[in-house]
Amino acid sequence: MKPSSDASLDALIGKMRSAASPLRERLMDIHSRIKSNADGKLACYIPELSRVDPNLFGVSIVSVDGRSIDVGDADAPFTIQSVSKPFVFGLGLEDHGRDYVLSKIGVQPVGEAFNTVVLDEVSNRPYNPMINAGAIASADLIQGSNYAERVSRMLDMFRRYFGHPVHIDSSVYASERTTGHRNRAIAHLMLNFGMIEPRIEETLDLYFQQCSILATSHDLAVMGATLANRGVNPITGERAIDACYVKDLLSVMYNCGMYDFAGEWGYRIGIPAKSGVGGGIVAVVPGKIGIGTFSPKLDPKGNSVRGIQFFNELIKHYSLNVFDRDEDQCLILEHFSK
Ligand code: GLN
Repeated sequence: MKPSSDASLDALIGKMRSAASPLRERLMDIHSRIKSNADGKLACYIPELSRVDPNLFGVSIVSVDGRSIDVGDADAPFTIQSVSKPFVFGLGLEDHGRDYVLSKIGVQPVGEAFNTVVLDEVSNRPYNPMINAGAIASADLIQGSNYAERVSRMLDMFRRYFGHPVHIDSSVYASERTTGHRNRAIAHLMLNFGMIEPRIEETLDLYFQQCSILATSHDLAVMGATLANRGVNPITGERAIDACYVKDLLSVMYNCGMYDFAGEWGYRIGIPAKSGVGGGIVAVVPGKIGIGTFSPKLDPKGNSVRGIQFFNELIKHYSLNVFDRDEDQCLILEHFSK
């Protein structure tokens, strides 16, 4: 049949695409329904984040065999913020081993906000690496003979997960640095207890830089797929982290990754994930896929409103829960393409 106009050509292309990928069709449908949800508020603790376009909404899925589906604003850059935390924790594990890292940072979920100044009163450790205290302690663990080497090792680690060089939003970084007094207070408290080294400003700078890295929802899906693929980036084939530490990252993401919503998330969605106040969420279905979402309006706990809604919709069609062993309920890889 010969298409009579651009509109019918578009419809035909749309049909061919969705026939080739039931998952793409599903994602497009969910995306278009959720896009009208304008609930939530932009992060406003620094002016740069409150100036972001609130309508942006991108969704991406990358499989462990390197296929990807991107829907909406999947190439819109945003700062990854707390999404960076599990990955830097992983670098700390590689640099020092599990025992040493666990002597400095706990793995206990805490029902407090991500920027809580409270440490575990018995061990003096930050409760876990997904709150700011634990993330600053993770940044402290990055090895290098000087500051420049520590920064470049951190950025190179992110490059391996992204599959391309990473860039920092310099105005977000400058703002984080100028206004980060609470993070500075947390760092001083940890120094008081001997949990981090005295090079506080250097370590905070590393932390502010990791928060200011620019990513897209596609990048987050590739990072998630790298963890789903036991540490090897499925697009580049490069190893991003030693396979033996992947489960450490996934466990803390599962227990602590969604701020003080983590327990609800684990129960309802059932997969390791991490969100950031820039509006990103990275999630991992081990052995199958990584999922990245970006939409900047946040709920009161700091999670992307549309991001959370997206996962709630997705699990109506695919059981992703890591404790659900019924493979017939999770045909997400099969639905990538026919
Ligand atoms: N830069 C923010 C902070 O340090 C990151 C917080 C977040 O994404 N939860 O507070």
